[in-house]
Amino acid sequence: MGDLHVICHEIPKLELHAHLNGSLTETCLKKLKCLDSSIKGYQRMTEVLNKSQRSLSECFEVFKIAHNATNNVEAVFAATQSVISDFHMDHVVYLELRTTPRAGQDMSKEDYIAAVVTAILANPLEIIVKLILSIDRRNSIEQSLDSLNVILKMKLKYPDVIVGIDFSGNPAEGEFNEDLFKKAREGGLKTSIHCGEIRNDEEIEKILKFGPDRLGHATFLHPEYEGNPNNWKLYLEKKIPVECCLTSNVICGTTKSYPEHHIREWIRNSLPHCICTDDKGVFGTSLTKEYTLVAEHHGLKPKDLWQTTCNSVDYIFASDDIKTRLKVKLMNWYNKHERQLCRF
Ligand SMILES: [Zn+2]
Repeated sequence: MGDLHVICHEIPKLELHAHLNGSLTETCLKKLKCLDSSIKGYQRMTEVLNKSQRSLSECFEVFKIAHNATNNVEAVFAATQSVISDFHMDHVVYLELRTTPRAGQDMSKEDYIAAVVTAILANPLEIIVKLILSIDRRNSIEQSLDSLNVILKMKLKYPDVIVGIDFSGNPAEGEFNEDLFKKAREGGLKTSIHCGEIRNDEEIEKILKFGPDRLGHATFLHPEYEGNPNNWKLYLEKKIPVECCLTSNVICGTTKSYPEHHIREWIRNSLPHCICTDDKGVFGTSLTKEYTLVAEHHGLKPKDLWQTTCNSVDYIFASDDIKTRLKVKLMNWYNKHERQLCRF
């Protein structure tokens, strides 16, 4: 491990965009009795290929393997524990895990959520974990409403754990429905919306006008990245924090390369953003690796990465008390490691 990787590992980090089922490791999938051939399929995405060799839809196919492995409450509980432990080992001190509630073998959507929440509440490690529940883009409006009602009911039951709602899945399918997310917001949920993973000016405009608390990816938003200039203007008025996931975008082929990733514009213009993994299991990454990539390809020094993390504290979906605790933790770490940081 190089010095840069070591220091990126040591920085106490915040992970704000991690899908539970895409974050499972090979060890975890084996424990969940997933077949070796399926695990190979799950890991097929770890190589960077040419854009023409892979479609976004192909990436989404892979998630079915993890979904099959977590189709009962025991497996969902074990998977959640395992992912929390992985992030803790990677020096993540605050994690917002996200997942789409789904029914399975003897399991309702409520049971699924309860299994994830129980694992979060039972977590003994020094990492704060919150939950964001997702609405799948493929769902009809009726199905989405049904999911939202379950989510709102569970939010009342576990108000300190369930903090937000997300809109995700294959961006080639479905469309953003603002009424649905207005209802979620009225129910006390923060909103993080996957936005502009493919070029879709109309939907991007709709999402920006709604004004989520955070945006996932925002790949095709900046005019240099095929974004519509009016949407970019709208974005600059709102300055919504963007969750940047470099490896995920490069592997899925929506971004050409690491140096050409759109995070460049957010860094250059000091716009709010955070560094995230998206699906560390599927894409063979870690938050440490993502930090290292940003340093290598976008000229950030470890001290700048530490600052990016500090800024991210303001974008989390947790209480002011937790924000203060995280800022103190980061400051204490900085004071202890200042000499090490200045070596770079
Ligand atoms: Zn995502």
